[in-house]
Amino acid sequence: DSVFANIAKAPEDPILGVTVAYNKDSSPIKLNLGVGAYRTEEGKPLVLNVVRRAEQLLVNDPSRVKEYLPITGLADFNKLSAKLIFGADSPAIQENRVATVQCLSGTGSLRVGAEFLAKHYHQNSIYIPQPTWGNHPKVFTMAGLSPKYYRYYDPETRGLNFQGLLEDLSSAPSGAIVLLHACAHNPTGVDPTVEQWEQIRQLIRSKGLLPFFDSAYQGFASGSLDADAQSVRIFVADGGECLAAQSYAKNMGLYGERVGALSIVCRTADVASRVESQLKLVIRPMYSNPPIHGASIVATILKDRDMYNEWTIELKAMADRIISMRQQLFDALRDRGTPGDWSHIIKQIGMFTFTGLNTEQVAFMTKEYHIYMTSDGRISMAGLSSRTVPHLADAIHAAVT
Ligand code: PLP
Repeated sequence: DSVFANIAKAPEDPILGVTVAYNKDSSPIKLNLGVGAYRTEEGKPLVLNVVRRAEQLLVNDPSRVKEYLPITGLADFNKLSAKLIFGADSPAIQENRVATVQCLSGTGSLRVGAEFLAKHYHQNSIYIPQPTWGNHPKVFTMAGLSPKYYRYYDPETRGLNFQGLLEDLSSAPSGAIVLLHACAHNPTGVDPTVEQWEQIRQLIRSKGLLPFFDSAYQGFASGSLDADAQSVRIFVADGGECLAAQSYAKNMGLYGERVGALSIVCRTADVASRVESQLKLVIRPMYSNPPIHGASIVATILKDRDMYNEWTIELKAMADRIISMRQQLFDALRDRGTPGDWSHIIKQIGMFTFTGLNTEQVAFMTKEYHIYMTSDGRISMAGLSSRTVPHLADAIHAAVT
């Protein structure tokens, strides 16, 4: 008999499991709005032209070998990633106060940051928004941190519960870590305004809380890399400390290449260098060192002005297509006279719309219309096209009437 004979069957991941169910459906009209990956108008995955160009350069360069990277990853990639999120003129970078390490996309960056905090920081409570990306509580718990929720979303207005957020962060213990979505909050698509960010900053600084930014959608929300990094930059501008986890999955379409970065902004260059030395001790026993290909693509693009510009144009096109899907879906529901206020579809930001549909309505849409999404009613706008909007609008209409 197997030594694993008594092992229980684990449930599917609530997000990735949506695709598993979708793949099993043989209906020709099936539609996957579950996973957060960009699709073209034709419903196809997209490799950016600029990424293809960078890869061509890399494969045709005979000096490139397959040696191990250092534990901290590709040095150019790290510098350029910090510049991308904090801004080229960031004093923290100029003063060498930022420790940046290449990690396995956004998830890996969060995990390395969390492992570091669990080992070296005096507080292990991490406040995460209610709701948040389903993997956050798991990543932080596994690393030894203790997740607590702060109020974030108001189902009544389908907007931000700003008062609740301020109250909950005010009553957090001094020094607690606060996870903030840098932009395009997942799953709600609801972000604070710049004025609200400023109030959040003041509260976090006055209470001595430690901000940890999750930046998985820079450039993807508004189409502007700078606008989407605004929240992070106002925290760095005050000279205080923070962490930031960056992902290139969405904004460069490098999902499966697993390329991201963790930066820790410190008070002084001396602290930053000691922090970096300890990050190496965190990373070495987990996976030794990160993969080379994706980081080389990113560095190639970020350091060449012409390729960088091409990237920003392609990025804006992806963001614009998503924004246009919001408008088309909103218009289609209005045309059908679907009961309810659907203006949140055009107000929310980023890859997802938090529709407000409940679990039963989602189950109905999957069963009757072969439309797949997470049970919280979140749909990926990036998975929609002009061709599929009417089908989705019909399904929503039927689900709520
Ligand atoms: N953080 C948030 C809020 C996300 O939505 C995602 C992806 O869905 C990630 C982090 C991490 O993604 P990845 O590890 O693919 O970069």
